[in-house]
Amino acid sequence: MSNYDLQAGDRDGVYTGPVRTCVGCGLQANRAELIRMVATQGSAHVDLSRSLPGRGAWIHPNLSCIKRARQRKTFMQRLRLQRDIHESVWQELDEAAHKMAHGALSS
Ligand SMILES: [Zn+2]
Repeated sequence: MSNYDLQAGDRDGVYTGPVRTCVGCGLQANRAELIRMVATQGSAHVDLSRSLPGRGAWIHPNLSCIKRARQRKTFMQRLRLQRDIHESVWQELDEAAHKMAHGALSS
């Protein structure tokens, strides 16, 4: 039961929306369940609107996925960053994940 449709299919007659791959755990999830990071001029930012232009990467709003992505530098690869992500951006991501987990963030 862990297989998500790449096409976000309508198995149950309900459109579930596009899915994205989490850079932390590598699993796919509905984009509404993930936080988007975007690369702007070579540095990463948390894209709370999920709509900023630029190369994007997605991650679950949980600390284990963020930790894994940080250790493995998957954001740098995915966003093609030239330098490591700044500490303040990780804090921003932590805060966004915390808010999302508590339902304060929705779009
Ligand atoms: Zn994940």
